[in-house]
Amino acid sequence: MIKAVIFDWAGTTIDYGSFAPVKAFIDGFALEGIKITSAMARKPMGLLKIDHTRAIASMLNKPIDEETILKVYQNFEEILFKDIENHCEVKEHVKEAVIALHQRGIKIGSTTGYTSQMMASVLPKAKANGYQPDFCVAPDEVGKGRPFPYMIWENMRHFNLSDPREVVKVGDTLADIAEAKSANCWSVGIILGSSELGYSKEEFEKLTPQEIDNEKERVRASFYQAGADYIIDDMSELLKVIDDINRKLKLNKSHKLLTPGPLTTKSAVKQAMLTDHCTWDDEYKNITKSVMSDITSLAANDDYATILLQGSGSYAVEAMLCSLIKDDEKMLLLVNGEYGKRMVQIAKDAKKNYMSLEFKETEAVDVMKVEELLKEHTDIKYLVLVHCETTTGIINPLEEVANLAKKYNKELLVDAMSSFGAYPIDMAALNISALASSANKCLEGLPGLAFVIAKKQLVEKSKGVSKSHSLDLYDQYLSLYEGGGKFRFTSPTNILLALRQALDEHKKEGGLIARSKRYQANHKTLVEGLSKLGIMPIIKEDIQSYIITTFLLGELDFNKLYHNLKNQGFIIYPGKLTKISTFRIGNIGNVYPSDMKALVDTFKANSL
Ligand SMILES: *Cc1c(COP(=O)(O)O)cnc(C)c1O
Repeated sequence: MIKAVIFDWAGTTIDYGSFAPVKAFIDGFALEGIKITSAMARKPMGLLKIDHTRAIASMLNKPIDEETILKVYQNFEEILFKDIENHCEVKEHVKEAVIALHQRGIKIGSTTGYTSQMMASVLPKAKANGYQPDFCVAPDEVGKGRPFPYMIWENMRHFNLSDPREVVKVGDTLADIAEAKSANCWSVGIILGSSELGYSKEEFEKLTPQEIDNEKERVRASFYQAGADYIIDDMSELLKVIDDINRKLKLNKSHKLLTPGPLTTKSAVKQAMLTDHCTWDDEYKNITKSVMSDITSLAANDDYATILLQGSGSYAVEAMLCSLIKDDEKMLLLVNGEYGKRMVQIAKDAKKNYMSLEFKETEAVDVMKVEELLKEHTDIKYLVLVHCETTTGIINPLEEVANLAKKYNKELLVDAMSSFGAYPIDMAALNISALASSANKCLEGLPGLAFVIAKKQLVEKSKGVSKSHSLDLYDQYLSLYEGGGKFRFTSPTNILLALRQALDEHKKEGGLIARSKRYQANHKTLVEGLSKLGIMPIIKEDIQSYIITTFLLGELDFNKLYHNLKNQGFIIYPGKLTKISTFRIGNIGNVYPSDMKALVDTFKANSL
């Protein structure tokens, strides 16, 4: 929640239009025979006044020397000091805003472009006029003024705050916004009576409604361009802004997603999205290429290609089934959960030549039954298996199915969506033809990007197989590999940068082995902890993955459970079993055994 609001002085809380410095600058320059306009005087408003003087000097057609600048500044100071107390009237709605903020326990800080000497005149006068912030810092007290963040930091130090996102800076100049940005706190630009607007109250009241609209629009546009988080007319709107920021802060409160994708990701992964790139830029294409080769090397060798595809994981599964397998080639889909069923639906919709072999959803794929079927149906050319059935958390016997495929000379395709990156898969050794996965499971990237790793040989002979244009792996392969990392259509650039970072994080953690060990430790902590509370997993241990676990709901009410846990910062998953009431807890993502322990403790503390 917001803990402090830091106000600027002239133009924001006092001195409508910030006239004291403008007049002093115009007259200060005039004394040296130099004519400046009030627009020139206003442009650098908000800076420390000596910097402000230099900034005005740099706008002059004829340059002036340092000596003259110092003289102008001296004139400015003298004029300002004589006049400053006449410019301390408190702006409208400021007192009310201060009272309301104080009532909410929010501290009022302040920063300024005035020196502390100038503030010594301003502070008592403003107080006499009814406005007194809890703290005030001038640039000379911290060594540097705006746009540097030190005055805001000094306020934070005074108020004992460590998080700049709990701080709002309100100001009337572009320098105020820049100061807030460099401190990484929230920024609010105020339009009426601002230096940016540049009118005295009397001048402003003489404007026609149309002129007022135009002038406000001009100021809004400049605050917007400067990157203000909020733009308000006057202080009467400030409380609404604080409410809205608090709403956002609450929403951003970090909760742990214990769901198998999207999942909890590292902030470095999200931070990586902050630059914008374009699809065909060489630098970006090289990043794309590095992502492709890093993914390939997690499970395969140079005989394989990683074909990135926009979309969620299902897009990659569909692309794999429909653009690598010809319509007349028969595939056998092995089904023991929702994701197996989804493949059946894909094959059916695409009018593929397919058979499916269904198993109980609480049991693993049985290779003996698969073998029987293969003996019977010799026209089957492809075997398709879901490696980790995320529906239940069952890990299917990939190696045995691969051996079977070898024995009967079948091609093997795998949905390794929720296992890739955390279960060792050696595609070459297992002779897997293709595998589909996505950025947002064990790679701990963000949703929106999927991929198929496939034997180049297989891809290269699949020209024209796909009946879908956008899901055509062959075309995408040509573009990515021959086009040097070029997506065919708009690339999800930010998501790809996040995936690049996620792969770096994967490496940093110690690669696949380290990640799988962490997930195993998560899983163990979770299952042991909940079992002690009588909450039991339903899948037999020997076929249970360390990705996601299904628990019996028993007496528990899922909605209550969900909301209780959410309030404590944990998001869990409903069960997907058709016959038994269950819930699921994923332990992949940026979560650790300590998080699992905290979850178990939450169950305990709430007698859930
Ligand atoms: C997540 C997942 C998918 C893809 O689902 P999307 O909703 O498209 O991301 C496919 N198969 C398995 C096994 C999965 O876990």
